[in-house]
Amino acid sequence: MADPALVWFRDDYRISDNPALTAAAATGAPILCFFIFDESSQGIRPLGEASGWWLHGSLSALDSDLRALGSKLFLFRGSASEIVSRIAAVTHASSIFWNRRYEAAEIALDTGIKKDLVERGITVQTFNGKLLHEPWEIKNQAGKPFQVFTPYLRAVSMRSVAPPLPAPRTITAGRWPADLLDSSVALDDLALEPSRPNWAKGFAAEWNPGEQSARRKLADFLNTELPGYARQRDFPGKDSTSRLSPHLRFGETSPRQIWHASTVRNDGQESDTAKFLSEVVWRDFCYQQLFHNPNLATAPFNSRFGRFRWAADKDALAAWQKGRTGYPIVDAGMRQLWQAGWMHNRVRMIVGSFLVKHLLTDWRQGEAWFWDTLLDADPANNAFNWQWVAGSGPDAAPFYRIFNPIAQGEKFDPNGAYIRAYVPELAGLPGSAIHRPWEASKEILGPAGIELGSTYPRPIVNHEQARERALHAFRMLRAEA
Ligand code: FAD
Repeated sequence: MADPALVWFRDDYRISDNPALTAAAATGAPILCFFIFDESSQGIRPLGEASGWWLHGSLSALDSDLRALGSKLFLFRGSASEIVSRIAAVTHASSIFWNRRYEAAEIALDTGIKKDLVERGITVQTFNGKLLHEPWEIKNQAGKPFQVFTPYLRAVSMRSVAPPLPAPRTITAGRWPADLLDSSVALDDLALEPSRPNWAKGFAAEWNPGEQSARRKLADFLNTELPGYARQRDFPGKDSTSRLSPHLRFGETSPRQIWHASTVRNDGQESDTAKFLSEVVWRDFCYQQLFHNPNLATAPFNSRFGRFRWAADKDALAAWQKGRTGYPIVDAGMRQLWQAGWMHNRVRMIVGSFLVKHLLTDWRQGEAWFWDTLLDADPANNAFNWQWVAGSGPDAAPFYRIFNPIAQGEKFDPNGAYIRAYVPELAGLPGSAIHRPWEASKEILGPAGIELGSTYPRPIVNHEQARERALHAFRMLRAEA
């Protein structure tokens, strides 16, 4: 048998539009597909627990899809550089293929591995499998990366997006040498799913990881929710967004596939399509920012915010995490996150603003909680959006623009349908009272079975006072500059 070609899967758990897999299959060599669970390489952030749940499902689905093509996914655990080096040596591979990553620690790791392999005479081919355009491709007229989204979007709209690749029809599977097989691990051995407690129990009712499920979800979204997306996407009580984010995070679908599936339509939904695709471009923009600012999750982009005087109120943080702040829209969002591993975008902005401004809590605490509890926890999207909310990021919402959680709830969840779904103890309240139960009379609270401070918390902060405190803290920051 000819020397095999290796395909290393990393956050690209799909067989269609997977340029690394397609290129490997095109060599005609026998293919060995593998994944490495690496918690040891320096600087690579460990997965959050919710992401672990999704990854488990993703790897299982990819293995099934590869088996249908005549191949299989082998799993390893440990230092990626040591394992790749060993696989290449023991299998006598002539080439290796992977799709590129964009976090600094991952780039450093991949660069080192590539150098080692090339020195040993192994061909290394790498591809863009994750983004519409890679972070160094889109530049402003001065040749610099864009810092503002609107001109970035304009620049993207002038370029074409490469068409997605079909899945290979078959793959000639290579044979793994016995001693490598001995060091491979079973999926369950990776212990990716949360245990003690298994708080992910509810996820399976709402989510189904894997490429086939992503494909169905995209098709359903384009047929049913895309019409009206631009108008409806801000209303959390309506199921009006694609919910593709975890599938995109784990590369079960590609932005190229989404782009082309959306733009072939020509049915009067162009403004909805443009809005939807602009969100997918935001994702690229977040990656561009992460690539050029590797510390996006840990350091404020605007360094002035490094001196911000955050309050370190552990009880307030815990109330926020548990969805017990006394502000119904905030609590509904935080409970949706805990139950479903996902939160609607509008509500992410509301709970983020509440944590950073009403509770004066460092945005990094929110970023970390989302990192652990979101199924779509993404190194670029999460860090960028938290800095956007906090006002410290590139092209961010100004700090002094403070979301009023009551007005936001009344505007975007007017009848309280979303609140009723996630804060059942308030379900008996009429729409007129559900966003401010502390103002409701006993005659309204009593029949709804609500005793404030007992069945549902009173607000942990007063909105107006919290707003003033946040603005004062911001003024102090400016005065010190
Ligand atoms: P749709 O509206 O259907 O959009 C389609 C796709 O576009 C999404 O799947 C997503 O990949 C991308 N997208 C949409 N909005 C944004 C955005 N604001 N920034 C970047 N990409 C976007 N998104 C993540 O994928 N992972 C995260 O960890 C994450 N953390 C966030 C934290 C905060 C504080 C905020 C305010 C937003 C965060 N987002 C994150 C962005 C956004 O909330 C989600 O991408 C979106 O809610 C996913 O739902 P959807 O797939 O139905 O989106």
